[in-house]
Amino acid sequence: NHLFDLVRASLPADPSTKTFIETGDGGRLTYADLLDRSAAYARALVGLGVKPGDRVAVQVEKSPEVVFLYLGAVRAGAVFLPLNTAYTGPEIAYFLSDAEPALFVCDPAKAGELSAVANGAGVPKIETLDAAGRGSLAEAADGAAGAFEDVARGADELAAILYTSGTTGRSKGAMLSHANLASNACTLAEVWRFTADDVLIHALPVFHTHGLFVATNVVLASGASMIFLGKFDPKQILALMPRATAMMGVPTFYTRLLKEPGLTPEAVRGIRLFVSGSAPLLAETHREWQARTGHAILERYGMTETNMNTSNPYEGDRIAGTVGLPLPDVAVRVVDPESGAVLPTDAVGMIEVKGPNVFQGYWRMPEKTAAEFKPDGFFVTGDLGKIDPDGYVHIVGRGKDLIITGGYNVYPKEVENEIDALPGVIESAVIGVAHADFGEGVTAVVVARPDHPSEAEMLRALEGRLARYKCPKRILFADELPRNAMGKVQKNVLRETHAGLYQ
Ligand code: ATP
Ligand code: MG
Repeated sequence: NHLFDLVRASLPADPSTKTFIETGDGGRLTYADLLDRSAAYARALVGLGVKPGDRVAVQVEKSPEVVFLYLGAVRAGAVFLPLNTAYTGPEIAYFLSDAEPALFVCDPAKAGELSAVANGAGVPKIETLDAAGRGSLAEAADGAAGAFEDVARGADELAAILYTSGTTGRSKGAMLSHANLASNACTLAEVWRFTADDVLIHALPVFHTHGLFVATNVVLASGASMIFLGKFDPKQILALMPRATAMMGVPTFYTRLLKEPGLTPEAVRGIRLFVSGSAPLLAETHREWQARTGHAILERYGMTETNMNTSNPYEGDRIAGTVGLPLPDVAVRVVDPESGAVLPTDAVGMIEVKGPNVFQGYWRMPEKTAAEFKPDGFFVTGDLGKIDPDGYVHIVGRGKDLIITGGYNVYPKEVENEIDALPGVIESAVIGVAHADFGEGVTAVVVARPDHPSEAEMLRALEGRLARYKCPKRILFADELPRNAMGKVQKNVLRETHAGLYQ
């Protein structure tokens, strides 16, 4: 039940010859390095006064050392707490005072500002780690080499706290137990058929559930290898493809790779699996990718609080625009948000999930936690969707993005799909903007090719396709949609930008 037992269970016979991580510059770290280095970090943490249950907050650039620190924290019985590298001093202040870690690890380049922030938040110890994996904490680990006996932990005790992305409001700390993380890693490794022969391209950040848990834990659970890259560079990825068997990415990875002429069936010949998640993959991207490479991207759905909930099948139809079937150990249902009644096939409502993957609650938010769990243990995801007759889950958007106009509910996704199908449109985001007559006015922000039809022409084309109340009052054009590090469209930013549109 200890998360690190997952690593031990899939260790190769000779850990010193099996690659765990290959870096972009040709560096290689083995499973023996993983064992040694995670033990060294565990000993260093204990030496710094970190006790079981203590949080270890970390805001550092991606490097293999971060993975060893994560595993060292888990082995020491501490709670790993990674933070988005984009967070500024004042944002870090909020997270540190909320989480009260025993140790804060930051980039040496920011240590001046952030030590003051950490001191202000009452954090007792501050150490550093840079993008090359060096810094005061790495030195402490160098000096702490030696065997380490993992600190025993119960299945429901915390291995990590991960803050949500903050797309719909202030980030909340999701408390994830050893069993939450271990169960999901095993399930995903199995349904996606990962083995020790796999080599995963890992170009995701490691402060988010996608890069840290989905990608890294699946590799660990199968004794596989990964090519670990500090950032996403499409040309570099194409050059590395022949050495890999799988890639996990956010939708923007795929749209950016599609712009590379070098993306051919030949270039991806060694790859057996492309996975997408964290934000909706456009059905068009799915189709283009299949036409260019012969591969159907496997889209899955999850969230910080639950790890992964659904996945398109490894064998069987991967349906564009859906997030697939509930994972074998996860129950998914769609309910009426008001009455809570479970809805029939194809009816749109609130998605709720239950399983060993579902978190232990929001850190220091007992009321919020209580509000988001049903008496029978289902967690209210906040996402709206439906389950089709074949059991595939479709996400239509977030509950908070639902538009109520003139008393009618409008699901943005439905309108976006119609807009995206118009000639000249690349992508769109539909939001509700305050409107004196309608409460909210349906408003579209569209990224289009230079020769796109005019607003009036587009509105006319939509009239024949959508009920009148669903048609946008205005279509605005933009060069691009605002996105966060995980490629999620920030509708709150769009709502703020256009708040005065109908005044
Ligand atoms: P916050 O909860 O702080 O507002 P967030 O929900 O964006 O932020 P994450 O936990 O990173 O934080 O994201 C989970 C959400 O991402 C899901 O609830 C869902 O809305 C969206 N998501 C993830 N995968 C997919 C997918 N394949 N298709 C559509 N949406 C997805
Ligand atoms: Mg969320």
